[in-house]
Amino acid sequence: MTSSARESVLAAALASERPRFRSRRTAGFVESVIREMTRLALARGDAVNLAQGFPDFAAPGVLKRAAVDAIQADINQYAITWGAKPLRDAIARKYAHWYGLELDPEAEITVCCGATEGMIASLLAVTNPGDEIIVFEPYYENYLPDTELCSAVRRVVTLHAPAWTFDPVELRRAFNPRTKAVILNTPNNPTGKVFSRAELEQIAALAREFDVLVITDEIYEHILYDGARHVPVMTLPGMRERAVLVNSMSKTYSVTGWRVGWVLAAPDLTSSIRKVHDFLTVGAASPLQAAGALALSLPDDYYARLSADYQSRRDKILGVLERAGFRCFRPAGAYYVMTAISTFGFADDYAFVRHMLDRTGVAAVPGSSFFSNPSDGRDMVRFCFCKKDETLEEAGARLARL
Ligand code: GLN
Repeated sequence: MTSSARESVLAAALASERPRFRSRRTAGFVESVIREMTRLALARGDAVNLAQGFPDFAAPGVLKRAAVDAIQADINQYAITWGAKPLRDAIARKYAHWYGLELDPEAEITVCCGATEGMIASLLAVTNPGDEIIVFEPYYENYLPDTELCSAVRRVVTLHAPAWTFDPVELRRAFNPRTKAVILNTPNNPTGKVFSRAELEQIAALAREFDVLVITDEIYEHILYDGARHVPVMTLPGMRERAVLVNSMSKTYSVTGWRVGWVLAAPDLTSSIRKVHDFLTVGAASPLQAAGALALSLPDDYYARLSADYQSRRDKILGVLERAGFRCFRPAGAYYVMTAISTFGFADDYAFVRHMLDRTGVAAVPGSSFFSNPSDGRDMVRFCFCKKDETLEEAGARLARL
């Protein structure tokens, strides 16, 4: 069979629904809207992609050289499944330096393929079907399929705009004896909220009361504005054994395609997370782990510059979006702006985003992708601003056509 004939057979097979071969656990899946928007932007050729959050500027030169050097030095075979020792040691040193968190690299650190794998491996390791997982909404869209892959039951707690605060009564109501974990992303995607110590303490107190884990996605830990402080839940009293911390190189070092992340957890949790990780992926790319050891050893001023650079990009995109007629929710961290689009008078967020892409060539993510009930996000659109100044300026010029 020629390859094009094979492709059409495959396409026909995919097009006709065959329920026998569709697992129940994937039945509720929809394509990631974030990745879909990137594909639509690429298909257009000339689009400015402010949808999927990845930088369009270069990764730090020292990291690129370290990765090339590692390959040349024949670091090309499997690393230890839970992570090359130099990287785990560098991670332990970094958390001790930044947060006074003492971690045993032999028993409490698992290197994995990005925070995405870290999150699903952690959930698969700690949940049983039917366990309940609390998720704050709006949420990063992966958390939904993550809970479905675990056959877990989702409980959603609303973050209320404009400050994205939660109602403590609603939060308490979400906990019950079936609750196994809370997923918490701070600094937050998509809202830009940085949870305060007081808020984290409320969540931690409930986790202790109900014997629940807090699984934190801290991937934007170093992208903070206007003096905001990031507090890992793991550093709060009584939370050292109860928090599972997920993070990655992607955003801090502008290497989203490297897929190197890590999970920090107490030894008993780490032991099961490592097994899930091993069977899922064996390990993250070993030369990139070697470069990661160098990245995690960069001096403090690297992180100060990262935040300062992002703060100027944030200020620029806020100006661009406001001039174009969006109402912006000002982020305190991470690299996204949630906007309200009601002034544009569209039927919904999806129609608006498609129109904006057609008319201006600027791609963004419909707000409904971050809500379990799509209508709750129908008047919102998320823009990312991890882009060069020229890109943000080009977006500004194009959005003026809206
Ligand atoms: N975190 C990024 C976003 O929200 C993209 C993540 C991804 O596509 N894997 O846009």
